[in-house]
Amino acid sequence: MLIVMHADSSPEAVARVEARIRELGFTPNAIEGAGRTAIGITGNKGAIDPGHFRLLEGVADCIPVTVPYKLVSREVKREDTIVDVAGVPIGGRAIAVMAGPCAVESEAQILSCARGVAEGGANILRGGAYKPRTSPYDFQGLKEVGLALLSKARAETGLKVVTEVKDTETLAAVAESADLIQIGARNMQNFSLLEAVGDLRKPVLLKRGMSATIKELLMAAEYISSRGNKQIILCERGIRTFETMTRNTLDLNAVPMLKQNSHLPVVVDPSHGIGIRSAVLPMARAAIAAGADGLIIEVHPDPDRALSDGMQSLTLPMFAALMREVGKIADAMGRAMLPGPFASR
Ligand code: PEP
Ligand code: MN
Repeated sequence: MLIVMHADSSPEAVARVEARIRELGFTPNAIEGAGRTAIGITGNKGAIDPGHFRLLEGVADCIPVTVPYKLVSREVKREDTIVDVAGVPIGGRAIAVMAGPCAVESEAQILSCARGVAEGGANILRGGAYKPRTSPYDFQGLKEVGLALLSKARAETGLKVVTEVKDTETLAAVAESADLIQIGARNMQNFSLLEAVGDLRKPVLLKRGMSATIKELLMAAEYISSRGNKQIILCERGIRTFETMTRNTLDLNAVPMLKQNSHLPVVVDPSHGIGIRSAVLPMARAAIAAGADGLIIEVHPDPDRALSDGMQSLTLPMFAALMREVGKIADAMGRAMLPGPFASR
């Protein structure tokens, strides 16, 4: 249930409503929103009798929430959430772009890639330091060394950093280096990891599991939000289907479904979504046309020698071309590309 307070209700009145919610054994959640104070109730098993609240001072309305992903739903918060990634706003009018290699491989690789994607107009540098790989014999990432190299690339370029956390053991180290913590597709339902990032107050990029429904993605986001971390960006990265010509099937249906049902920003990863270098650009354009708030793109200075995901990684010139093309779609959509750190050079 959502309790909507009168615009002029006092902080004391809000506190009394919150106390009443706690008395009933439930949890009050302040919902940020322009022009109204609202309190979402979680922790209840069945419907709550609105009679508990109707007569309390300051209460304007008691609205039942019909979906199980309560805190992340549009029913509870109508306005779009804008996630602030260390000064880079994601979810507003401007489209944000994260770009970089699948994995951090060496100092020379990550620095040249960071400079290149910044020149192309990216806002955030991606790069895995801890890599979840299908084979134990494949490159597992440079781990702490990779994190340090990402920090160096940030200091050199001004790009913010997104990198994946693989487990709770390395979360503290990842959270210290990253501006945005990525939860990978394989971990979307790692509930202890979701709870642990939910306890942080740092932005999270939550990728959809390859066999997860849209609702399951929203429920995973609810795990994070219910622990108090509201800075969540949802990411569609392709799902497994019967199709074998592409690595995954980029489910662009998810974009309008997520935007309609949740207030959280949505970004699309066309690199993993289709898995083929030459097809990333059209799917990036389609993602923006479908209403995505941003993109995450794999780029490598020498993709044919990449230690992971070279097949789907763009060269730096291909990335620059993608940015120009995506800019045209953003324009047509009445949106803009968010200027990156090199914009004024
Ligand atoms: C990645 O971003 O390199 C990655 C491993 O993505 P996903 O979790 O979507 O497979
Ligand atoms: Mn990858």
